[in-house]
Amino acid sequence: MRQSNMLIPTLREVPKEAEIASHQLLLKAGYIRKLASGVYNFLPLGKKVLRNLENIVREEMDRAGAQEIQMPSLQPAELWETSGRWDTMGLELMRLNDRHERPFALGATHEEVVTSLIRDEINSYKKLPLTVYQIQTKYRDEKRPRFGLLRGREFLMKDAYSFHEDFESLDETYNQLFNAYKRVFERCGLNFRAVIADSGAMGGKDTHEFMVLSDVGEDTIAYSDTSDYAANVEMAPVVTQYEQSNEEAKPLEKVETPNAKTMQEVADYLGHSLAEGMKAIMFKVDERLVLVVTRGDHEVNDVKVKNLFDAGIVELATEQETIDAVGAGFGSLGPINVPESVEVIADHAVKSLHNATCGANENGYHFKNVNPDRDFEINQYADLRFIEEGDPSPDGQGTIQFAKGIEVGHVFKLGSLYADKLGASFLNQQGRSQNYVMGCYGIGVTRTLAAVVEQYHDDNGMFWPDSLVPFDVHIINLNAKKEEQVEVAEQVYEQLQSKGFDVLYDDRQERAGVKFNDSDLIGVTHRVTVGKRAGEGYVEYKHRKTGEQQDIHIDELVDFLKTLHS
Ligand code: ATP
Ligand code: MG
Repeated sequence: MRQSNMLIPTLREVPKEAEIASHQLLLKAGYIRKLASGVYNFLPLGKKVLRNLENIVREEMDRAGAQEIQMPSLQPAELWETSGRWDTMGLELMRLNDRHERPFALGATHEEVVTSLIRDEINSYKKLPLTVYQIQTKYRDEKRPRFGLLRGREFLMKDAYSFHEDFESLDETYNQLFNAYKRVFERCGLNFRAVIADSGAMGGKDTHEFMVLSDVGEDTIAYSDTSDYAANVEMAPVVTQYEQSNEEAKPLEKVETPNAKTMQEVADYLGHSLAEGMKAIMFKVDERLVLVVTRGDHEVNDVKVKNLFDAGIVELATEQETIDAVGAGFGSLGPINVPESVEVIADHAVKSLHNATCGANENGYHFKNVNPDRDFEINQYADLRFIEEGDPSPDGQGTIQFAKGIEVGHVFKLGSLYADKLGASFLNQQGRSQNYVMGCYGIGVTRTLAAVVEQYHDDNGMFWPDSLVPFDVHIINLNAKKEEQVEVAEQVYEQLQSKGFDVLYDDRQERAGVKFNDSDLIGVTHRVTVGKRAGEGYVEYKHRKTGEQQDIHIDELVDFLKTLHS
C-alpha cells in the first residue's frame, strides 16, 4: 500500500482521556478512533491487525474441532427471561424495543441463543460432543468503559459453546480448548498465566482465566513463588493457620469512642494495632442481612461470601438498612448483641483473636477485651477474606505473591444450568431424554489486541509480534523530490510485492523526521529506507524493536528479508 493513499491519521498529541499506553498509541498511530464512550472505529491498520488476530483464533478453534457459526446480536427478551438473566444482568445488558414494542437485548454473550439453537436442531447423542464458536461483536453497557479497547461497550469476542452427554466428555473438550487458548496467546507473543477463576454471573464451576501480565491490569493474580499455582485473587483460598494466644482473657469492657469511625481511627484511639480489632461489614445476600466479621487488617472477599451462601446477588447494605437492623451505623458494628434477623458469620482468623476490640452496635461505642465464644456466638466460621502477599500458597508449596493481569480469555464448565432453564434435552444412549452438559469459552479479541500493545511498545511507539504485524515491510523514501531515490524506492516496492511481501510504502511528500516518527509509531518490524546511497543500489535496513541496522544491496534485499521471516 502507498502510504499517501492510506487512511493512517497519526496524531502529534494524544487526547487526555487516554491514560494507558495501548489506548494512547492505538489512537496516536491511527489504528483506532473513538465514536462514543467505549465504542471505536477500526481504521485500516487496526483492522489488519485485528484480522491477523482473528485468523489465529480461528485456526486454533478449528484445530480443536470447533465449528464456526454466526449468531445474531439482536436477541428476543423472552430468551433472557427464560434463563433468568433479563433481571440478573441488570444495567449491563443493552435493551431496546422493536416497532411493535417487543423487547430485545443486544447480545452481551450468547448462552441463551446457542442453547435454544442446539435444543431445536439436535435430539440425539449421536451428534455429541459438539462445539460451536463465533467471532462477533458484543454489547455491554459497562459502568466504567475505559482504557480504550480494554473495556469497551461494544467489543469483539470469540465465544464458543460445547454440548455433552456427561462431565467426562466436557472435561475432555475443556482441556482441548484450554490448550487451544494457550496456543492462541502464545502465538500472539503474550506473557500470560492461566489462573483459577470465579464463574461470576455465568453460574457453573471449574473455570480458568487467561491473564496477560501487565501493571494496567484490573485483576490481581495470586501466585506461588515456588510452584505453578496461580489464581484470581478473588478465588484463592486462605489456608493460614492462626496461633491461639495463651494470655488471660480480661473482662469485657464497653468504651466510648467519640468521632472514631474507621478501623484505623478506632485502633489509634484505643491504642492497638489493626490486627487486634474486628471489622464488621453488613451485606445483603439475596435480600437477607448478613454481618461479616474479619480481623481488622483483613479485607472481606465478597465472592467467598457469595459462594458460601450459593447466592445470586451479594451487595453492601446501606447505612440506613444497617441502622434499622442493629441500631448503629457503619462505624460501630460488631458481633455482640446482634438481633436474630441478622446472620453473623466470621473469617477463621477471628476465632483466634484474644482481648480484641469490636464495635458495640451503638453509635460512638466499642467493646474492649472481646473474646470469641465467651462474648458472642458465630453462626459459622469460614474462609471469608482475601488472600494476601506472604500467606502460604493454597497448594502447600511456597508463599503467595501478587501480580496484575488483564483478563483476555475465560473458560467455564457450565454444567447443565442453561440446558435446564431452556429445556434443552436430547435422547441419550439408553434412549432416555436428558439435558445437555455444557461448557463455554470466551476470548476478548479486541482486548487481546490492546493487551499485546501493552507488552509491545517503547517510548517511540508500538512494535508487533510477527504473527500480528500489519505489514511485513515498511519502505520509506527519504526524499520524494530526488528522482533517483524515487526510482529505487518504486523499484524496491514493486520487487517486494511481487515476491509476496505485504508492503507499506511511505511515498508521501513529508520531511524525513516525520516519516521516521510515524514509522516508529506504527511499528512495522522491518524498515527499509531508500536514501543517499540509492544511486549505488544500497538501502538501509532497520529493525523496529532492536534498533539494529545495516546497509543492504537491493539485489540481496529479498533473500535478506526472507531469512528474517522464516
Ligand atoms: P471482566 O471481568 O473484565 O468484565 P467478564 O468476566 O465480564 O470480564 P466474560 O463474560 O468472561 O468477561 O467475557 C469473555 C471475555 O471477553 C473476557 O475474558 C474479556 O477478555 C472479554 N471482555 C469482557 N468484557 C469486555 C469489555 N467490556 N471490553 C472488552 N473485552 C471484554
Ligand atoms: Mg464484565
